[in-house]
This record gives sequence, C-alpha cells and structure tokens, in this order.
Amino acid sequence: MAKEMREPIETGCPDPFQYMHPSMRRNFGMWAYHEHPKPGVLLHVAKNGDKLWTIKAGTQRILDVFTLRTLCQIADDYSDGYIRFTIRSNPEFFVTEESRVEPLIAKLEEAGFIVGGTQNSVTTLSHTQGWLHCDIPGTDASGVVKSMMDELIDDFKSADMPNRVHITTSCCQINCGGQGDIAINVQHTKPPKINHDLVANVCERPSVVARCPVAAIRPAMVNGKPSLEVDEKKCICCGACFPPCPPMQINDAEHSKLAIWVGGNHSNARGKPSFQKLVAAGIPNNPPRWPEATAIVKRILKAYKEGAKDWERINEWVERIGWPRFFEEVELPFTKYHIDNWRGSRKSLNSSTYIRF
Ligand code: SF4
Ligand code: SF4
Repeated sequence: MAKEMREPIETGCPDPFQYMHPSMRRNFGMWAYHEHPKPGVLLHVAKNGDKLWTIKAGTQRILDVFTLRTLCQIADDYSDGYIRFTIRSNPEFFVTEESRVEPLIAKLEEAGFIVGGTQNSVTTLSHTQGWLHCDIPGTDASGVVKSMMDELIDDFKSADMPNRVHITTSCCQINCGGQGDIAINVQHTKPPKINHDLVANVCERPSVVARCPVAAIRPAMVNGKPSLEVDEKKCICCGACFPPCPPMQINDAEHSKLAIWVGGNHSNARGKPSFQKLVAAGIPNNPPRWPEATAIVKRILKAYKEGAKDWERINEWVERIGWPRFFEEVELPFTKYHIDNWRGSRKSLNSSTYIRF
C-alpha cells in the first residue's frame, strides 16, 4: 500500500485510499449496484460478486475522546478495524458477511448510538465549526444540532420521508450554514455596540471599514482616541465587522435570533436552479433546547411528509404547491417580507447549479 500513497500535501484532504476498507479499495470504480436492506444499512455489490454492507450510526456531532475511542473499539471488534465519518459526523462501519450486520447494530445500540440516516431519512444536521474553531460565532450551533436531533430521532431511524432531508445550522449570519433542505441560521437584529477603548489597539480600521457591505462604518475620534462609528440607519446587522474587529460586539443574548430557510439548490433533485427562501425570522435563540426553532422544523417536516410526492425534495414540493400554499400547510404567517421581488438577484448572485472557480 505504501507505494500507492501519494506524497503528503499541505492543503486538502489526505489520500483516502489508505483508510478504505480493503473491499472498497479492491472494487473501486467496479461496483455493479447497491441496495438499501433496512434503515442505516447499505449493501454494495461489485461486478466480481463481492458484497460490502455499510452500517451508519448517528452521533452528537462534536465528539469527545471517550466517544471516539468507543467508536474505534467497535470498529476494531466488529468492522475489521475500519471506520469513516460522513460530512454530517455519521460514523460508518463495514462488513463483508451478512451475518455480521446485526451483531454490529446491536453493539452500536448497546453503546448508546442510533443506527439510521440512510436513503429517505432525516440525516444528522450539519453545523459549522462554531466555538471550537471559528472566531465569529453568534450562537452554539452544535447545541441546536443535538437538541433538534433528539426530537427527530424517529425520522433518523425510519427512512420514510418522500426523499432524503438534509438540515443545516450556522453559528454566524454571514458565512457557512445554508447547505440543506432546511437551514437554521443566526439573525442579528441590532447594530454592533462599539467598545471605543479597545478599537485602536485591536482593529485595523481600514480593513473594518472595507468589510462593511453597505458602507455604514466610518473612522472617528472618540474621547481623543482613534475609533470607528456606525451609521445605524444604513447598518443591516450582518455581523461582518465583528471578525476583523471584536470590539464591535454584535452577539447578544436577546437580539441575536434564529431564522429558518427552506429549499434552494441543495434541496433540488431535478428542478431549475433556485434560492433558499426565508420561512420564519426572529425566532428566539433559546438554549439549551431551542424549542421554538425545533417546533417550526417539525411542522415543515410533517407537512412535507404528508404532502410531497414520492422522491420530491423539499424544494420541489414547495415549487409545486406554491409559496403561499406552503405557509398554509406549515401554519406559519405569510407576510410581505416573504415575497422574493429583488430583481438584482438575477444578475448578481450565483443562481446556477454549475460549479465555478
Ligand atoms: S457559520 Fe460563521 S461562525 Fe460558524 S464556523 Fe462558519 S464562519 Fe465561523
Ligand atoms: S453589522 Fe454589517 S452592515 Fe452593520 S456595520 Fe457591521 S458590517 Fe456594516
């Protein structure tokens, strides 16, 4: 194997072949078909007749060392020492005999993990890195994931949605976090509060001024020190000035809310390119269980499950029934703010499914 490995590089993923189950390596590009014997289990059959069962489990998303060791021990004992994690932090195990599937599932469940997340299920919410790795979070996205998945556990285990459902959360308002059928994103509702004593020592003022998308920040002298000021009439409360200048504090327990969006290109199996649409704004960012946001997500999932045709993704279902009718189905208010009438979006935003570099 060592000869086949490529040289390490400083960016990007490591060579995945070194971590693959031997059956996967042997049959790379040579699979004939795959089946879905039950929720949480996939069966891949190679052209030479080799069979590989993949068993998927759910986790709490951010993992402690104890949990990782437990999962690795299960992989050593039941899965030939191989484990991998999907982008949604679902561990996957591999066996080459059908008789080893059920003992592996029993062991995972005994250790407190749930098995599911395949085909037409609600798979684990993905969230961005938040407090662990990033410098600009406005909320604890991993907490939203854990508390919401606790409520959606049956939909993870059962695979009886019309099509797969991906849900995402973000921890700030400006960057990652909208790549799903349903997205739960932070929404700041007031301009940043500036700590003028710190600005001169901490912030590069020209970078901060350049960062504002609506030119609302100006250099200013405050109490004899160089600082900044914000034109609050222009400010759209996006939070983009907080990363280069932490003294412009925008996170706020009361005024930082959550907003829920649906649809878009990530929720589209065969329709035209489309944007995500705002469903609800100003939802309380209410730890530790976020009950208000979870209730809205559950309403959307219930209406989708009852109303969509087989294999329709959420975006296709919304497009078919129409935006006002969607609000009737989920029993949420349809207001003038939900009408997408911004003509500039046709030219200036990325509205195609093509990958661009
Ligand atoms: S959503 Fe924002 S705060 Fe969270 S990881 Fe991405 S950039 Fe950082
Ligand atoms: S929050 Fe956004 S719009 Fe408001 S001042 Fe900061 S960068 Fe500008």
